[in-house]
Amino acid sequence: MLEGKTALIYGVANDRSLAWAIAQTLAGAGARLALTYQGGRMQRPVTELAATLPDALCLDCDVTDDEQIQSVADAVERELGGLDILVHSVAFARKDELAGRFVDTSRGGYQLAQEVSAYSLVAVTRPVLPLFEKRGGGSVIALTYLGAERVVPNYNVMGIAKAALEAAVRYLAADLGPSNVRVNGISAGPVKTLAARGISGFNQILSHVEELAPLRRNITAEDVGNTALFLASDLSRSMTGEVLHVDSGYHIMAL
Ligand code: NAD
Repeated sequence: MLEGKTALIYGVANDRSLAWAIAQTLAGAGARLALTYQGGRMQRPVTELAATLPDALCLDCDVTDDEQIQSVADAVERELGGLDILVHSVAFARKDELAGRFVDTSRGGYQLAQEVSAYSLVAVTRPVLPLFEKRGGGSVIALTYLGAERVVPNYNVMGIAKAALEAAVRYLAADLGPSNVRVNGISAGPVKTLAARGISGFNQILSHVEELAPLRRNITAEDVGNTALFLASDLSRSMTGEVLHVDSGYHIMAL
């Protein structure tokens, strides 16, 4: 489905990352990939993962640094020519902000969560617009969570960041639609990853979903990968500004 296409994926930390599941699915469908990792500590594990994919690039990038983001776009242009798909699978908040009362959120903690988890979508999209243009359009996919729409205990400042991220999906979709660039979100159910482990009481969220979701099971990272493939491909060519829930139906339940 993606033969001859190229994809840039932000947010691989290890083999449990949702970004890694997406990378495997997109590569399996024929796309050539560039993966980014955040800084030196992550270099080895992510380079080793990238080596298992055909011809994948692996690039260092902290999304709070515009110069590094531009270097990634330059490297993708040099090595891959143009870009068809951009995946944003990045989020961060301080551990102490992901427990207790939201009202105690600090100014610094709020700003950091917004910068890394929401503004970064805008920051990584802008420099690749000329690369999309070379291909006659593109698909941007961002990972979000139900905590943007409803209160999830302990999700706190990250819920506000995800609400901003989902609004950014819509504003970007409106800006970029005339250039045939689509922008959509995947609202994934809980999956045990490095980032998820930072949320206090995460295991309770998993058992709650398993008990109450219409499908009575938690999702897998592969479910997210498959939805990303749909959003990356022409099968979704007339969808933009949308947030798709991949959560076993949990979001429809009130009680
Ligand atoms: P993860 O820890 O594997 O991925 C988070 C990634 O963000 C890591 O690769 C980390 O290096 C990166 N990151 C953080 N700060 C960064 C920075 N300053 N610069 C560059 N990269 C940075 O965890 P994950 O669960 O796969 O998270 C991926 C996305 O999925 C996040 O947006 C997360 O909010 C979202 N999500 C996760 C779940 C879940 O339950 N796991 C559910 C819904 C949405």
